Amino acid sequence: MNRVHNFSAGPAILPLEVLQKAQADLVDYQGTGTSIMEKSHRGVDYTQVHEEASALLSSILGLGDDFKVLFLQGGASTQFLMAPMNVLASGQTADYINTGAWSTKAIKEAKAFGEVNEAYSGKELNFTHIPTQEELKLSDCAQYVHFTSNNTIFGTQFATEPETNGVPLVCDASSDFLSKPIDIARYGILYAGAQKNLGPAGVTVVIVRNDILDCINKTDIPTIMDYRTHAEKLFNTPPVFPVYMVKLVLEWLQNKGGTAYFEQFNSKKATLLYTTIDQDDFYTGTADIASRSLMNVTFRLPSEELEKKFIQEAAAADLDALKGHRSVGGIRASIYNACPMESVQALVSFMADFKAKNG
Ligand code: PMP
Repeated sequence: MNRVHNFSAGPAILPLEVLQKAQADLVDYQGTGTSIMEKSHRGVDYTQVHEEASALLSSILGLGDDFKVLFLQGGASTQFLMAPMNVLASGQTADYINTGAWSTKAIKEAKAFGEVNEAYSGKELNFTHIPTQEELKLSDCAQYVHFTSNNTIFGTQFATEPETNGVPLVCDASSDFLSKPIDIARYGILYAGAQKNLGPAGVTVVIVRNDILDCINKTDIPTIMDYRTHAEKLFNTPPVFPVYMVKLVLEWLQNKGGTAYFEQFNSKKATLLYTTIDQDDFYTGTADIASRSLMNVTFRLPSEELEKKFIQEAAAADLDALKGHRSVGGIRASIYNACPMESVQALVSFMADFKAKNG
């Protein structure tokens, strides 16, 4: 077995223990003679998996009885439209904090359902900056405030939730979900594609607060797009295998010590990497220091030729998937929960060697 150091932005590294457990279960799930993929989604085995995944998430986030956990399909991109379709009506306003490409896409979809107040746009600063509270121009009467907690492409992250005076937050947490504790009571809707911190591609976790569900009063939402449909019962076939994998990742996460453990662990990894970047001018971080992401560390080298060489030589040294997003170039090291410290150590040691040879 030759597992490389995997810095992919997503689909991203999964814990080896989880992959091995899934491998052991794959053909014959717990002595039942079939794979979990080959069973009815309404049978006892899958029902148990689904309920356990939901209960684990509830326990990790402290959801209590106030929220519903939904395992949906269509990626976070579908939530860009599903959230406003459910809770924003013509004549109503939603505040959107625009911190990157994903927020921009969410804004585009929301405009089809109501007014969007762009409470902040980082576009002119090339999305290198997360706004301070003072920089936000929130409206008086917003139905919700939408933000992208971590910007996978630009390597920026909100250190804390924006203050909204009780207006519910709607959050795209796709790339930092469960990487640290959050104040869940402030969220009305939180959604995250699983493929970074939570499991394989194919399932999107959506957490909706009950009072938000209770206030949905539209009658023209297509059934499958209506949160109430999924909150009420298992409406159609869920992505059974991804949900099963999510359950294993959640067990792994909880055994390690939950989000409090990962907050410290992720901070240690990111500090090691940013310290290496900041040593001198050879490597340059792209994000404002106060806006830096602990999940996606983005940086540049003195030239694009050197960046190309860096990516190639890194790959040859088993440091995989370090190329920045195609829209911005540069280098991006994604160091989600499942990325071990050894991988970051291997990367910083490679960076030191590369600088010594090319600096
Ligand atoms: N939001 C963020 C923050 C993302 O990083 C991504 C995917 N990279 C998306 C949304 C889109 O997710 P999906 O591909 O699951 O629709």
